Formats: sequence, C-alpha cells, structure tokens
Amino acid sequence: MKTIDKIYINGEFVTPQGTEYFDLISPTTNEKLGKVRLGNTEDTQNAIRAAKNAFKTFSKTTASERIQYLTNIKSSVEKRKNDFINVMTEEYGGTLQFATVSYDYMLKSFDSAINLLNIYDFTKTMGESEVQMTPIGVVGIIIPWNSSNGFICSKLSTAIAAGCTTVIKPSEMSAQQTQLIIECLHEANLPKGIFNIVNGLGEIVGAEISKNPDIAKISFTGSTNVGKIIAKEAINSMKRVTLELGGKSPNIILDDADFSKAIPLAIGAAFMNSGQACIAGTRLLIPENKLEEIKPIIKEIVSNIIVGDPKNPNTAVGPMVSTKQYNRVQDYIQIGINEGAEILTGGLGKPDGLENGNFVKPTVFINANNQMRIAKEEIFGPVLSIITYKTEEEAIEIANDTTYGLQAYVSSSDEKRAHNVASQINAGRVQINGIGHDPMAPFGGFKQSGIGREFGTFGLEAYLEPRALIQQK
Ligand code: NAP
Ligand code: MG
Repeated sequence: MKTIDKIYINGEFVTPQGTEYFDLISPTTNEKLGKVRLGNTEDTQNAIRAAKNAFKTFSKTTASERIQYLTNIKSSVEKRKNDFINVMTEEYGGTLQFATVSYDYMLKSFDSAINLLNIYDFTKTMGESEVQMTPIGVVGIIIPWNSSNGFICSKLSTAIAAGCTTVIKPSEMSAQQTQLIIECLHEANLPKGIFNIVNGLGEIVGAEISKNPDIAKISFTGSTNVGKIIAKEAINSMKRVTLELGGKSPNIILDDADFSKAIPLAIGAAFMNSGQACIAGTRLLIPENKLEEIKPIIKEIVSNIIVGDPKNPNTAVGPMVSTKQYNRVQDYIQIGINEGAEILTGGLGKPDGLENGNFVKPTVFINANNQMRIAKEEIFGPVLSIITYKTEEEAIEIANDTTYGLQAYVSSSDEKRAHNVASQINAGRVQINGIGHDPMAPFGGFKQSGIGREFGTFGLEAYLEPRALIQQK
C-alpha cells in the first residue's frame, strides 16, 4: 500500500493544504493499491504563484539553455525505464506493449522539443517589422489518465522549449505515475518553479487553473464536455487554450485494399490502448460487397486477441481504468444491441476467468449505421462499429458525418487513390496504410475534437505571443 502525500511546488515536495484522500484501485484486481492526498484551491494558487515568479527569469533564457534543461530531464527519465513501464501497467492497467510504446513517446517528446529549438527562429522579419515570438506566460496543463506521463512530457517539453513555466494537474487516478515523473523532474535540477504539479480533483484544482488570472494559457487533453467548461471559463481572463478532445475516428478500407494487412491494422487501430484512445479508429467503413469476405477475417483476428493481465507481454487488451469506465463501455454495448446493431464478436460481460478486474470483451458490431449512438459517441473502450458503404464518395461522406475530426485512417493498394481520399477527410491527422506518429507534424482536431494543434511549429507557436516592433526610419 502506497501513500502519496506530497505535491511539487517551487522545486520542492510539499504536503498539500488539502486533507482529502482518494483511493488508488488496481484496474486488474480492483484491490486497493494505495491512496493519494489531494491538493486544494490554495495549493493550486501556491503553485501558480511559484510558476509566475519563475517566469520572470525563465522567459529570458536562451534556446541553448533550454536545450540543456530538456536534455537533463530526458536523461533522468532514461534511467527509470522499467519503473515507468511497471507503474503504468500496475496503476493504469496499460498493457506492457502499450506502456513500452508510451515510454518511447515520452523520450521522443524531449528530442522533438530540442529539434524544434535547433530550427525555430524566435525573431522574424514580417513586412518592414521585426516580429519577436515571446513566451506566453504561465501555462496550466490539465490531462486525463490514459497516457498520463506521455501527456506531461509532450506538453511540458513544448512549454520549456517556448520559455514558459507550468502548473500541471494530472488525473488523481495517475498519482503513482505522477510521483515517478516528479522524481525525475526533481533530479534534473532545473531552476525552481518551472514546473509545479498538483494532484487533485478537476472541479477544484482544474477549476482554479481555468479561472486564475495569472494563468496565460491552458493546454488541455480530455473529454469534449470538460474542454467546453474550461474554454468558457478561460475566456473571462482571455486565456489562450489548446484543447485536445475526443474522437470517433473513421477508418476507410477501400475495395482495392489488401485485407490481410488492412484488417489487422484496423483492429489494432480500434483496440489500441485497450480502446481507451482518443485516436482509436472506432468506425470501420468497408465496401458493402466485401462484408461477407471481411467478416471471418475479423472474427479470426479478434478471437486471437489476448485479453487479460496487462503485465503479460502478449496481452493486447487490458482492463478499463476504473469500474466507472467499465460500466460506461457495458452501457454502450447494450445501447448498440438496443439500436439493432448485431454483435459479430464479443458482447456484454467479462471474459471468463477475468471477473475480478475491469475487463471487457473486445466487441465488434456489424449492421451499424452512422446515425446510431455507438457510431456517433466516443465509447473509450474496445468496441468497434462496422458501417458499410456503396461508393467511395459515400465512404467519404460517412467519414465526415461526425461532430469529431481528430484522426482518420485510409487503406488502399493504390497510393494515389488513398492520398486523394485522405485529402477529403476533415480530420487533423489522416493515417494512410498504417499507424504512425510524426512528432514534427501537427496533431489536433477539426470540429469538436478541439482547438489548436500540438507538436512541431504549430505546437510551439501555441505557447508564444508575437510582438511586432515597427520602427519608423
Ligand atoms: P475528462 O473527464 O475530460 O478529464 C480530463 C482532465 O480534466 C482530468 O484531469 C480531470 O480531472 C479534469 N477536469 C474535470 N473537470 C474539470 C473542470 N471542471 N475544470 C477543469 N478540469 C477538469 O477526461 P477523462 O475521462 O479523464 O479522459 C478521457 C477523455 O480524454 C476522452 O474523451 C478522450 O477522448 C480524451 N482524450 C483526448 C486526447 C487528445 O489528444 N485529443 C487524448 C487522450 C484522451 P479529474 O480526473 O479530477 O476529473
Ligand atoms: Mg473526469
């Protein structure tokens, strides 16, 4: 049993003023792993004050100083690889496969921030003027539980690259993962106050970050509903916002695709991170006349998916993070049944032998249509809806008929055709014949999947304000 009773403010581990505790429950067994003491409004204000104070000097550092800081953090993260992977599998229930990818992603976010600093020009000439790209101020970082340290590293590394100081509020369910990253950040020995991390509830710590006038910008990853609450509050003090929200990503399999590759990829895209992924390809669009051919392929692949102990290296789908999330996924499977979609594989309840944890049967619906709730709403679990189409135009229309637009997938054996279809999809990223992450390319959503972009130049500039100096000669 672990007790986490410290938060991190101004370069020190401090005991929160808040006195409430939150239980940390194993997603795999539902046994109590420990508890975390939650910060309150006052703790959040202290963290913001420290970040505001640190900004005075940090905002004036040079790119090469910031490269050194990023390098120091990266090397302390590198020393704890096994700890990062273990704590993610234990506390969050992330599979060993996913936790390993997630750890690499953490390291790469420091590399890409360093890379940006090497190429980005903070002073430009526009028209007759000098334009200085200046750090925006104190950034509030609010993140969910599904890749907690991945989000901390990608957002913090960009903030540091820009010369901004930060106050970070992770999910209280990620407290042990948070403790580990704080230990690494502390070891990196940066000047005090650049990062401050407060465990606590969204309605308390998150709400204070959203309203405090000393926060200049919020970088939020989470649900569209909470994103709207934060953006409404932020506007009162004209905070800038970057919102990375939900998705209902379409995956178009064109009729000329090699199904032996495209279908396993589609299942991987749908069930990645046990389905708890904003970019999961949860609407699979296949040609109507290929449905009968594709059905047995899907059944075969899904029957071979190993669901269970996330520590087993062969496990592809682990437990849902909490019983609340398990129940949400069950509710959606029931909704799909009620709406008249047909279960091809999976269904309600837990897989045999996995009754103690929050395990879901990977579920695929056929005879779904785009008007059903299972095709419209983000489920955030391993549930895939198959929708058929007659023509390429119809496939594009269905793909775009959604309030979301975070990511999409296209498979075809004709590269030009895939490129042409991809160019018509309203999504921030379209993956062609595979799944990858380009840390120098923008990531973010069209429509209700968010506002703004992360990564690359777009991501960096979201932490900068342009100041034009217009000198009369
Ligand atoms: P969530 O409920 O929106 O929570 C996200 C964060 O916001 C948590 O730290 C939460 O704190 C905090 N929060 C809650 N209410 C708040 C308020 N009133 N003011 C300020 N902060 C508040 O999301 P979640 O359930 O943790 O995560 C799943 C969602 O994240 C999904 O919708 C998914 O699509 C989205 N997501 C998006 C991306 C992307 O990059 N686009 C990536 C991953 C996940 P508490 O934990 O205390 O509630
Ligand atoms: Mg929440």
